[in-house]
Amino acid sequence: MTQLIHRNLRVAPPTAVCAFGMYVRDGDGNTYLDASGGAAVSSLGHSHPDVLAAIGSQLKTTAYAHSAFFTTDAAEELATRLADGAPGDLNHVYLVSGGSEAIETALKLARQYFVEHGEPQRRVFIARRQSYHGNTLGALALGGNEWRRKPFEPLLMDVARVSPCYEYRERPASQSVEEYTAGLLVELEHKILDVGPQNVIGFCAEPVVGATLGAVAATPGYFQGVRALCDKYGILFIADEVMCGMGRTGTLYAIEQEGVVPDIVALGKGLAAGYQPVGAVLARAPIVERLRGGSGVFQHGHTYNAHPVAAAAALAVQKVIQRDALLAAVTARGVTLRRMLRDAFGTHPHVGDIRGRGLFVGLELVQDRDTRRPFDPDLKLHAAVKAKAMECGLMVYPMGGTVDGRRGDHILLAPPFIATDADLGQIVARLSDALARALAAVRPAGQ
Ligand code: PLP
Repeated sequence: MTQLIHRNLRVAPPTAVCAFGMYVRDGDGNTYLDASGGAAVSSLGHSHPDVLAAIGSQLKTTAYAHSAFFTTDAAEELATRLADGAPGDLNHVYLVSGGSEAIETALKLARQYFVEHGEPQRRVFIARRQSYHGNTLGALALGGNEWRRKPFEPLLMDVARVSPCYEYRERPASQSVEEYTAGLLVELEHKILDVGPQNVIGFCAEPVVGATLGAVAATPGYFQGVRALCDKYGILFIADEVMCGMGRTGTLYAIEQEGVVPDIVALGKGLAAGYQPVGAVLARAPIVERLRGGSGVFQHGHTYNAHPVAAAAALAVQKVIQRDALLAAVTARGVTLRRMLRDAFGTHPHVGDIRGRGLFVGLELVQDRDTRRPFDPDLKLHAAVKAKAMECGLMVYPMGGTVDGRRGDHILLAPPFIATDADLGQIVARLSDALARALAAVRPAGQ
């Protein structure tokens, strides 16, 4: 029998037959409140009329034009808008079809930049443990998610690894936040020196860590320290904003809140809010100028680069975000959501931390609140939360803990920016129900 390959090869997911606003409906008539935007994608909710109209009109004019032959108004206008909204001189934009492609593009652009500068010996990227940067081989190599990497390890390039900035679980009680932050920066500097600064291409990190840690922002001053080290040793700072970017944290770019300008930024997910598969890379002027003045080409490219319909969808999404003042809405609703979560779970014995920025919110689940001991990962609490949430008509994005206890199970919430306070109330009520059911399902009797 011919079959579509699903993520879970044993159990097919329900069939989505219709999606509108905050909801997705399946073929059995069940309706799910989308509290995670899928995987932090659907920032405008579903079936937004402006985006549908923009896609329809682009399809009628130019559905496809290969980027080796033509550019399009949609792609040019999108690039201008992204660059205008970006910090500093991040004013060159390359359009691709998703987050992993954006990361691959960022890695290759950074490498070619140094090759064209007569530094071909630079071949090492530095990234953080417990990071996720995508599933293609370059992006997977960059990421530190051990479970995802394991089967492919022999195929992956070497990446130098440092600790994440994960205060809740990794700051020793004996250290102040400042000391913890300073320690992480010392670790990064030592890593750069170990590898040899002349061999390093760049340091890559998510400004707010999404899938692997659950909406973990850095401690104050961390990214300023990163920027200073990158400048000191002449290496590039690559910000992976695939999940946290495009308004999700309340500013168009999450890194704006850190007061630094990366050399390269990768975007995906919320860029076109799921209406089309699209990603982008922004680069500072000197990077692109070096290639322009050198070989004159970026040795990269995919068939669907700068796809006109994808660009039109992303452009429409960005226009709606601006017209409807959705960045301010994200900030305000994020405050409300975290307050509601604290009211519901602030003293819950198994919710250790409630965190995040804007409508990018994480709950870390713990066996013991005081010691912060995570649940045994074999219990697969995160999977139970997801399944029970679906039973309760709720979509959330949970992730599992690690065997060595360096990360607990967490639940990521990333609702559409159009969520009302009533929607947020529903999300918290259904989550409360789902968490109780999941804990009952995984906890051995009597505990
Ligand atoms: N980078 C980050 C931070 C991500 O969260 C993801 C996906 O979850 C990616 C890159 C890869 O994006 P995609 O799944 O669109 O390839």
